[in-house]
Amino acid sequence: MSIYTHYKYLFLDRDGVINQERPDDYVKNISEFVFEKGALEAIAILSAKFDYIFIITNQRGIGRKIMSELDLAKIHGYMLAEIGKAGGRIDNIYYCTDLNSESINRKPNVGMAFQAQHDYPAIDFTRSVMVGNSKSDIEFGNKLNMYTVLVGDKYKKEHKIYSTANAYYENLYKFAVDFKL
Ligand SMILES: [Mg+2]
Repeated sequence: MSIYTHYKYLFLDRDGVINQERPDDYVKNISEFVFEKGALEAIAILSAKFDYIFIITNQRGIGRKIMSELDLAKIHGYMLAEIGKAGGRIDNIYYCTDLNSESINRKPNVGMAFQAQHDYPAIDFTRSVMVGNSKSDIEFGNKLNMYTVLVGDKYKKEHKIYSTANAYYENLYKFAVDFKL
């Protein structure tokens, strides 16, 4: 059971939240997958705070044939094993390989949230939190009336994204420790 009365479902972006982003490139293999500082500990903490945790990630590198779905499966196998070893849990991973930005499944569009709700019908988006490091993550969460949390340092202090997210934290660990609602 979640220790919170309201928020039960956590949606996490992957690149720039769980693992370091590779600027102008994709994480194509395990050696390129580097956990963000404190991310493993954060997911362990969050696993006690939320009933369900999902990863929602755009992976256009597959659509561009720069990497394959098997490459992604290997990366996710490694990631989940490390998360498990650290005492954390991810309930499911949803990814979009589409090239077309108009794709319903590509963030900021909300298709992947509905894939999750199809698999876990109890999901209530208004009792969900979305954590991401990009504008598309915050737009995704806001469209669904989720509580939106921006992390990372992608945007300058004066960027308007800070006024569109419900909260900002330096990283997932700071969010995990601090989040109380
Ligand atoms: Mg990201």
